Amino acid sequence: MYDFLSTNIEYLKGVGPARAQILRQEAHIHTFEDLLYYFPFRYINKNNVVKIAQIQDDQTYVTVRGRIVGVSEKGGGRQKRLVANLHDDTGHIELIWFSGIKWVKDKIKVGQWVSAFGKPNFFQHQFSLAHPDIEVLPPDAGFNAPADRAASLEPVYSTTETMKKKGVTVKSLAQITRQLFVSGAGAIPEVLPQSVLAKYGLLPREAALREMHFPTSSEQWQKAKIRCKFEELFLLQINILQNKLAKKQQPGFVFSDVGDHFLHFFNHNLPFELTGAQKRVIREIRQDTKTGLQMNRLLQGDVGSGKTMVALMVMLLAIDNGFQTCLMAPTEILARQHHQSFLKNLKGMPVRTALLCGATPKAERKPLLMALAQGDIQILIGTHALLEEEVVFKNLGLAVIDEQHRFGVAQRAKLWAKNAKPPHVLVMTATPIPRTLGMTLYGDLDTSVIDELPPNRKPIQTLHFTDSARLRVFAFMRDEIKKGRQIYVVYPLIKESENLDLKDLMDGFEAISRAFPLPDYGVSIVHGQMKPDVKAYEMQRFIKGETQIMVSTTVIEVGVDVPNASVMVIENSERFGLAQLHQLRGRVGRGAEQSYCLLMTGDKLSADAKKRIDTMVATQDGFKIAEADLQLRGPGDLQGTQQSGVLELRVADLVEDAPIVQAARQAAMDILADDPTLASEKNLPLALEVNHRKREKFWARIS
Ligand code: ADP
Ligand code: MG
Repeated sequence: MYDFLSTNIEYLKGVGPARAQILRQEAHIHTFEDLLYYFPFRYINKNNVVKIAQIQDDQTYVTVRGRIVGVSEKGGGRQKRLVANLHDDTGHIELIWFSGIKWVKDKIKVGQWVSAFGKPNFFQHQFSLAHPDIEVLPPDAGFNAPADRAASLEPVYSTTETMKKKGVTVKSLAQITRQLFVSGAGAIPEVLPQSVLAKYGLLPREAALREMHFPTSSEQWQKAKIRCKFEELFLLQINILQNKLAKKQQPGFVFSDVGDHFLHFFNHNLPFELTGAQKRVIREIRQDTKTGLQMNRLLQGDVGSGKTMVALMVMLLAIDNGFQTCLMAPTEILARQHHQSFLKNLKGMPVRTALLCGATPKAERKPLLMALAQGDIQILIGTHALLEEEVVFKNLGLAVIDEQHRFGVAQRAKLWAKNAKPPHVLVMTATPIPRTLGMTLYGDLDTSVIDELPPNRKPIQTLHFTDSARLRVFAFMRDEIKKGRQIYVVYPLIKESENLDLKDLMDGFEAISRAFPLPDYGVSIVHGQMKPDVKAYEMQRFIKGETQIMVSTTVIEVGVDVPNASVMVIENSERFGLAQLHQLRGRVGRGAEQSYCLLMTGDKLSADAKKRIDTMVATQDGFKIAEADLQLRGPGDLQGTQQSGVLELRVADLVEDAPIVQAARQAAMDILADDPTLASEKNLPLALEVNHRKREKFWARIS
């Protein structure tokens, strides 16, 4: 049965080698199946006739009906065109052809009744239709369409210029698709299990596909759309859940003991009491690592919720059981900071910790890698550099990825492969994502959530200022510095306008250095184009309190932790996205002091920018901010989704179709609970389809 859908499109009646070539090249249609899933992006109802006087400027397509009262050729050379005048009982309109004139002239005669369908153009107070579709009506047709003519929706497919030029038009696409349903009747196998079809009241596959191309009514079409979305999401969830099951059977290291490292740290070094949520998550991870199966866990917690401490304590657990551990961070600044805070926290403990970044000099790198391979380093912290082949562990038992949304899925997989037997993997993220998106993006992971901030955190006061209030802002900054606080001033740096942005940053740095002169004040600066050691030096001065102001680009966006910094000034904040603003603001409010976030903008704000700023001023709740972000930007831009490819679904939309995502996941769980390997007879078509999609690399970039 599979052979039919996998048939080369070339062999469909009416296609042939030349058109097949165009279809492949321009629309990625290789097989019958591809054509079936090349859905129209909208439909037109040609039977919905409008009166000429009622045509509006903004109408995309109209059907008019009337009598031809004149046909003439106009212009010459390239201007040559055929113009037919059509009138109905309300007005008249010109029908214009620039090519195929001879053919049209033969077809259209003065006095005929016709209906014409096309896109109206408005030019010199007159509507016209260029290259309309014409249907010649019987001689006594009259101005009014018979009332009994059923609405008929015709598909509109997206076509490229090349397609049109080579004769692969919307019309011909509809034709070959229709043809496919004729020759394919009965050959389009159902892939969803009967029980699922029945439970969710879904249309059968063939009927649904037909309805998607050639709707018979808007109700049926709605049903067809739901069926197709469900199918897509269900198959995706089957794949994700099967992967998860497979991982769950992956043998993993057993951390049976809570040993000296963990206990010593807990009793002597832990600088604060853990929050309830931190304790719970550590327990969850501890449970995972006792089972003998490999752990794949996502730790979600808003900015400042204390994920690092959880990571450190779990790493100590691994060390207690004789394993090495690593922590990967997306930026060098963050990796360095983690390294330092680990050193501080582990003071007096016999744990060897090392830092490996792209900038680590060769002379240091070599002995480091050797010690690592010999098992002498127990905690390795670093950037992407950890993924390089030369980085070899003796027995890596736990890999932690911080700010996971900054990495691609492929990188997660690479860490997996760092050990013959895969290490336990803990990925951490602060970006709250809607649940349904998480089900797909991280559907193969178990999830832990830190839903509680450390105690005594005062809510950050967020204020919006326009540039004209700069002097007041400077005065406020001076007051805060007088109280002993430190301040971040962040400038946007967007790749496309890097040079301009950098100039803004340097100008800003100069202005601030002038307003906060030595020797009373110290101002640091950090941006992405500085040499790593200079960057590290400047960062250090700020961390040590030698400077009071840190002027920077968003290199400090993720993870940076300087509890004494209590003011975050974000310049040109209208240019930042919500997720980024939230991350930046999360750099303050980490100590016991009252913290502030000052959003600087120009006077004029776009509606979207205003909404972003208002949202920031109104709430500090990461989930609320993620929701607002989603509404403003759509899922395509959500952080953490770009690298995943999951949004390249054919019909479904992970956000808009959230209820279908949930139903599909539930249905997939039910089927797999009953038949985890899809081995039973009744699930055979499903198993075949899932394998087919795996082979065709449908989900290659998801899991
Ligand atoms: P994030 O979850 O954003 O990575 P961090 O791990 O950087 O957060 O923690 C934020 C700050 O809160 C750090 O300064 C950290 O030392 C502090 N912190 C973490 N847990 C606690 C706690 N239980 N009590 C008090 N402070 C804590
Ligand atoms: Mg962090």
